[in-house]
Parts: sequence; C-alpha cells; structure tokens
Amino acid sequence: MNTNEKIIALTGVSGAMGGEVLKSLLESDNNFKIRCILFSAEKSLPKFTKKLLKKYRKRIFKFKGDIACKEDCEKLLDGADYLIHCAALIPPKSDHDPHGTYLSNFVGTKNLIDTVIEKGNNIPFVHIATVALYGNRTYPHVWGRVGDPMISSDYDCYSMYKMKAERYLLDSGLNKFVSLRQTAVLHKYMLANNLKDGLMFHTSWNCPLEWVTDVDSGILCKHLVERDLAGKLDGFWNNIYNIGGGAECRITGFETIDEGFAVMGMNTKKVFKPNWNIPRNFHGVWFYDSDKLNDFLDFRTENNKIFWQRMGKKYWYFKVAKIVPSSLISKLAIQRLFKNTNAPKYWIKHRIDGRVKAFYGSYENFEKIGTDWKKFDLLCESKDYQNLKNIENAKPLLLDHGYDENKPLVSLTFADLAKAAAFRGGKCLSKDYNEGEIYKKIRWQCRDGHEFESAPHTILKGGYWCPHCCEPKPWRYGALADIPFFGQVYFDTHTKDEVNDVYPLSDDEDKFIENK
Ligand SMILES: [Zn+2]
Repeated sequence: MNTNEKIIALTGVSGAMGGEVLKSLLESDNNFKIRCILFSAEKSLPKFTKKLLKKYRKRIFKFKGDIACKEDCEKLLDGADYLIHCAALIPPKSDHDPHGTYLSNFVGTKNLIDTVIEKGNNIPFVHIATVALYGNRTYPHVWGRVGDPMISSDYDCYSMYKMKAERYLLDSGLNKFVSLRQTAVLHKYMLANNLKDGLMFHTSWNCPLEWVTDVDSGILCKHLVERDLAGKLDGFWNNIYNIGGGAECRITGFETIDEGFAVMGMNTKKVFKPNWNIPRNFHGVWFYDSDKLNDFLDFRTENNKIFWQRMGKKYWYFKVAKIVPSSLISKLAIQRLFKNTNAPKYWIKHRIDGRVKAFYGSYENFEKIGTDWKKFDLLCESKDYQNLKNIENAKPLLLDHGYDENKPLVSLTFADLAKAAAFRGGKCLSKDYNEGEIYKKIRWQCRDGHEFESAPHTILKGGYWCPHCCEPKPWRYGALADIPFFGQVYFDTHTKDEVNDVYPLSDDEDKFIENK
C-alpha cells in the first residue's frame, strides 16, 4: 500500500492536543497530507501551530471554517482517508459560553459523523472524547473503566455536550470508528490558561487524576494511523478506550498542583488554603483499563515529572517564580482570581447559591473545610494511599456494570440485556434481539416509562441509558441515585437530602432550584 498519498482530516489544531497531533502526523515517515479546518483566523493561532502550518505548508491544505457548518465539514472530508476529531470547546471557555459549547461539541461532531456517512461511510473516524463523561470521583471509587455510568457534573456544559456527541457517534452506524476518552492533559498552555480563570480552583484536592502529556497524545494518534495502514490494529476499531499515562501518572488533585509549584520551588500549602478549591462536582479518575490502549498504540514516552521538567526549561516564569516568596505568588497570581466568576470565592461572596450547593454541598460545608491544612485530610497523605493506587488492589473497588462481563459482548443474549436493563431500573423491549448485533439499535424502556433506541454496545460499553432522564438540562443526578447502576458513586459526595436537587442550565439561570 502506498501510504504517501494518505490524507488525514484534522480538527482542533489550535488546541493543546490537536497541535501535537498535527506535529506528530507531519513528522511521520509516511509523509501524510493534512487537511485542517481553522476556526480562528490564522494570525490568532498559537505560535506552535502557526510554525507547523508554515514549515509543512506543501503538505497541508487548510481553510477557515466551522464544523458547526455542514458545508465546511464536507470540504474538510473531501478526499480524506482518516478523520481525527480533536476540536472541542473545553473548560474554562465552555463554562463561559454554553451555546458555543453546544455548537462545537455537539453540532460540530454530529455534522462530521453525518458527512462521513453521506460520503459512503468509509472514512475511519477517530473521536476524542473525555474523562469528564465519568463525572466526579473520589475515595473509595477512585478507579474507573469503560462501561462505567456517564454522569455530567452539575453545570458542566463541556461534558454535557460531549456526552450527547459521543452517544450520537456510538449509535450512528459508522463503519469504522473509535472513541478515545481523553484524560486530563498536561500541556504547554495549561499554566497560562489556568492563571487567567477561576477554573484554577476546580481541582478537588482529593480527586484521582491520571494524566497524559500533550506530546504523548500526539504520538498516540500518529501510531494509530501508521499501525492501521500497516494492518497491525486487529480488533482495535469500533470500541471505546480510555487514554491515560498509566501508573506513573496517577496522582491526586493536590499532588498535581504541588508538582507544578514544586518546579517553581514553592509549596502548595503556602500558596493555597484548603477551602479555596471545591471538594466535589469535578471530574477525574484513575483508569483501570488505560493500558489496553497503550498495548495497541505504544504511545507513553513521558510522565508528569518529565513534563514539568520540560516546562521548567521552557518558560521564564518558572525561573522567576523561584526567587519570589510563596506568599507574594499567592497574592499576585492566585488570590486575584477570586474575582473571576468561575472562582468558588466569587460564588461565596456573591451568594451564587446554585454553584455553592453543587460544588460544596452548602455554605456550612465551605466553612467547615476551613483554611488550616493541619485540619484537612489529604488522600495522598493517608497511610493507605499507596495500596489504593496499586492496580492489583483495584478490582473490589470497581463499579458493577450489571451483567456478566466474563462473556464477550457479542455472546450476550436477550436475557443478559434484560438483566443489564433491570440494573439500570428499566427493561429491554427488543425480544427479537439477534445475538451479536451489538451496534444495531434496539428498544429499551427506563424506570419512568420513556422508550428509547440505542445499540447494546452504547448501553453496556458506552455507559449510556435513558436520554430523557440521564442527559442533563437541567442537571438532576440525584434523581438517579436510587438506580443501582447510577447510585454507586452518588453518595460518595452527596447526602440523602440532596436527591431532589435540580440545577438549571446556564449562567443566566444560575439559581439553585429546590424541587421538593
Ligand atoms: Zn427516562
């Protein structure tokens, strides 16, 4: 096969991941040609992307456009042999622009899927999804895997529309697709981005996070296309995988921030107070199954330590910070963000009840957490922490998916599907289900009587269920707490009094509605 002629369509090249994917693909020995769509004017792209577009201009066809516009998707995919779809509006931008997030994260993805199908359904579709689909995790449910329930954290438009998009993909009938749920990415823009927004305080100190670096995410996509062209990806396609850096990259929220500050010679406890960061309603998990993707694509070359060393050498502010006292950094760089509408301190001060309730549980909880590190229990300092992190001990902590997972999905019978549906509080209605047809939509009914169509793969491996009850708008995860499948993690961070809580959609409606 002549791989020199292969054309790869790519979205999101202005982003942290998309930029590295672009670089990796262009550096491949296969001399790929790239088609890319630019949402912003070229002059406003990051320097990194601009340089690549210039250096490799002979192999790049680029145009200004928007995936929310169908015609632009047709132009992008014209003659393409692969599509790698990295574009998404991510936090903090998604927190400030719900409508833009809808257009980019759902409408854009739908347009690309529809276009691939209309063009003959033979362009392999690499979809980048997100760890945010798993919602908030904390002790004891620090381990997650494909098949776990899809839960969008309250007010998180990013995950809400990514959920809608991935579900559409899984049920679309695409011939060749893969959905890669990207974990938290260590990337070159992260510090600069975080220091501009209250999002800095959305990392729970005790949340489990498995990182991967931007560079490794790029290598991953390069290997994917190279290996597929070489016929080395047997059994890979039409699945969902979690992207993660593996054992060395599994830490907590506190350790993450501390690693970054350590490069600057600082101590997190001197820069932050415990109650500045939210204790729940975030996202992040250690992936029990992320090695599976690495077995296929062998992309891990960096860990967190290597990443921070790379940053420390590259950016001036890491060096400058070393000579500035921690208290001054706290004041100048961190506390000035309290005024940002995305900052918990802002919600407390301005009595934004919905946000305070969603992220802290109550004003009292905020006070209770307090400002004294000596009185705050950090998971990473607990004596069982290393045992908890050991994947050998993880099995008893995994969530139940409500069916016999020793059976391959294609061998499940109607009775197996009915059992899985019952675990989700409902029924499987397609008694004529043909064993093995896991990508064909069948009928289901939820506890509340809604009937819907979804493929068995979407339900059992996707972790999706009733689109009426489980897709937020508004967010009301508490209503699912008594369903065994969804209730498994709810009470890790909520009380029984909260099950009727409802959080409305947007910033404009940002008031907590008590729906009792
Ligand atoms: Zn329902």
